[in-house]
Amino acid sequence: MQRMVILGATGSIGSSTLSVIESNPDAYSVYALVANTSVDKMLELCETHRPQIAHMVDGQAAKSLKQRLPTSLNVEITTGEDQLVDIVSASGVDSVMAAIVGAAGLVPTLAAVKAGKRVLLANKESLVMSGRLFIDEIRRSGARVLPVDSEHNAIYQALPESLQNNIGYCELEKAGVSHILLTGSGGPFLTSELASLASMTPAQACKHPNWSMGRKISVDSATMMNKGLEYIEARWLFNAADEQLKVVIHPQSVIHSMVQYLDGSVIAQLGNPDMRTPIAHCMAYPQRIQSGVEPLDFFKVGQLSFLEPDFNRFPCLALAMEACKQGQEATTVVNAANEISVQAFLENKIKFTDIAKVNEACLSQVAPQSLNSIEDIIRLDLQSRTYAAEWVNKI
Ligand code: NAD
Ligand code: MG
Repeated sequence: MQRMVILGATGSIGSSTLSVIESNPDAYSVYALVANTSVDKMLELCETHRPQIAHMVDGQAAKSLKQRLPTSLNVEITTGEDQLVDIVSASGVDSVMAAIVGAAGLVPTLAAVKAGKRVLLANKESLVMSGRLFIDEIRRSGARVLPVDSEHNAIYQALPESLQNNIGYCELEKAGVSHILLTGSGGPFLTSELASLASMTPAQACKHPNWSMGRKISVDSATMMNKGLEYIEARWLFNAADEQLKVVIHPQSVIHSMVQYLDGSVIAQLGNPDMRTPIAHCMAYPQRIQSGVEPLDFFKVGQLSFLEPDFNRFPCLALAMEACKQGQEATTVVNAANEISVQAFLENKIKFTDIAKVNEACLSQVAPQSLNSIEDIIRLDLQSRTYAAEWVNKI
């Protein structure tokens, strides 16, 4: 029996994870569920999954949960940031699903790595921010980190076992890998008139053609910032150089990414676009379990197509790739700026096309500095958020 902590339990990845657990009740149990403010959803999850602990980061939400949750369920309710570190590090915990959205996931995700847990990594932002420190911590603690992000999970599956066992330190060239081909659908605006992008609404941006996801990552998919963050994520997870990474647009989202070898072979992972597949893979690795996902029907799929990304349409993608080249300070800055600009767009404060403008302004404004600790990273993240908020106000 694997005892799990679900960080971000009330979100899209959280609920897909709980669905896989429900399909495999003899192999997995829930030790703790963690969320920010969604009391109604947490209440429902506690009744269904009976965790030992329900943790609401927001104190008010924890209070309200305490009032409403029947004591007969025997669930301990906790709150606070430090407490969160204790929960993921507890000795009874085998694995941690890291699915808090954004920079808020950094500290608890890293704490799980430090504690040497099996970490199922969905929160790409934490790796984008802490890069080197995160990877060094994996080596120090011996934690097994498994990529949940569907692209990175696909790449992981297409790599030889020796590289799977050496996440962060893969020697791609030695293993005969020539390229990692990171696929992305291009999102809802792939074929929209360029001139129409400025007037796209949050509802239109969140309407992804293939995937159902949280609002932040949905907007990131529409700008392709998501692919940019994934490019940085791949750089760290697979120790990939710029020239080893290529982005390929594949509108059907059936191929989730590929690895190209020097002998001409290309190994791809395919499946229906449903996060329960990569989640189940990470939960059971190296075994396989039921995920509840429909088997892929090739006759229904019919056609698979591929395009080169157009950086005029997707300036955020170019920006993230440029930040990746510049290094960890730049990726931290662009990630923080993007959280602010996306939030401002979702609140109808700026236009869709302003997201890239804010991100670019922050990237060019932040002075180079060395990042040697999590505190340094958090300081830079805050600095970039302040710049981004100023830009949003100017617009
Ligand atoms: P979501 O918005 O649906 O859920 C976010 C979760 O994080 C919620 O449970 C919320 O309570 C929690 N949360 C938010 N702020 C918090 C805070 N300050 N402290 C603690 N908890 C907080 O998001 P999602 O789509 O499930 O995405 C979660 C993560 O997984 C993101 O990093 C995203 O990039 C990544 N991811 C998601 C998908 C997907 O298909 N949804 C795919 C790949 C990667
Ligand atoms: Mg992805």
